[in-house]
Amino acid sequence: MTKFDTKLIHFGSEVDAATGASSVPIYQASTFHHHDIYNPPEYDYSRSGNPTRQALEEYITLLEGGARGFAFSSGMSAISTAFMLFSAGDHLIVTEDVYGGTYRLLTQILSRMNIETTFVDMTDLSAVKAALRPNTKGVFMETPSNPTLKITDIAAVAAWASQHQLISMVDNTFMTPYYQRPIELGVDIVLHSATKFLGGHSDVLAGLAVARTEELGNQLKYLQNGLGTVLGAQESWLLMRGMKTLGARMERSETSARKLADWLQGRSDIPAVYYPGLASHPGREIQEKQSTGYGAVVSFDVGSQERAKQVLSRVKLPLVAVSLGAVESILSYPAMMSHASMPAEVRSERGITDGLLRFSVGLEDIEDLIEDLGQALEG
Ligand SMILES: *Cc1c(COP(=O)(O)O)cnc(C)c1O
Repeated sequence: MTKFDTKLIHFGSEVDAATGASSVPIYQASTFHHHDIYNPPEYDYSRSGNPTRQALEEYITLLEGGARGFAFSSGMSAISTAFMLFSAGDHLIVTEDVYGGTYRLLTQILSRMNIETTFVDMTDLSAVKAALRPNTKGVFMETPSNPTLKITDIAAVAAWASQHQLISMVDNTFMTPYYQRPIELGVDIVLHSATKFLGGHSDVLAGLAVARTEELGNQLKYLQNGLGTVLGAQESWLLMRGMKTLGARMERSETSARKLADWLQGRSDIPAVYYPGLASHPGREIQEKQSTGYGAVVSFDVGSQERAKQVLSRVKLPLVAVSLGAVESILSYPAMMSHASMPAEVRSERGITDGLLRFSVGLEDIEDLIEDLGQALEG
């Protein structure tokens, strides 16, 4: 069992050991009977351990190639729990175009606990190095970043972080372990909003974290249990169901995303297209070094807010919504959705213009998606 596609199907708990059932049972129980009071049972209370959640945790550990993995009630729950590894007085270095929820957590909540953050352009290693302080304890990357898909050199940042005894973390939501496995590149903790590609069906909210070492894994376990940020048994099952088709979904969506990016770039009425698979993308070389694909998210600028709104109201196939990574295509408008709370000036500095749209390519026929987007653009 060496190839990734095989691991997706044969991950250890694909057959129930007790009954031979073809999927992990949903252990809908909060507590477990102590048959022998002198020998506590393996599972004791579902916050501390639940067999369905455990199966999922072992599944993601295997896929990311780490020592221990954990499932949380959302992506933000996974990320906030991981940040609890740090203490008052610590300093973190974080990608400047980090997910909005992570930005809010750092600037509005952890800042109150005296955990300080410097946001840097992670694509520039010298900027990362310049942010180091005596109290720096961690580096948090997100690559490709959202929504302009900038690429960070994961191995370079992780190696530098390790030299300075910093904990390195990657939010791997956009690539998933199907295309990118940060632990193999030297990263300490991989985080996911499993709500997106891993779940894949816009029907479950979940987060995952995988630690490279047993020691960090034990610390995360302590925090997950102590904070109570666990994923429920039903959601754990639903997420595993979605993950089994990750490879098939990613591959199809990515093939379509490449076609969409090429088609958009060939149009004279689209001022900018962001996709790491395009020859013109500045991060393409690094992307190809550290990942086996380019992902299924394409961002593009239609020129103005008026035109963006026209497209959003005229498209017939994609869901017009926040989120991404589902069987159905999802079209988002960062300026008014995910990045609405960012000052307009900061937004435009980061390329998040009023004409920018983000297309998460689903499993529809790409010709239909292109035809639909074409009519919406032509208006
Ligand atoms: C959605 C998302 C999150 C947050 O995950 P939730 O499941 O919504 O809590 C974090 N990081 C990235 C990159 C995301 O896209």
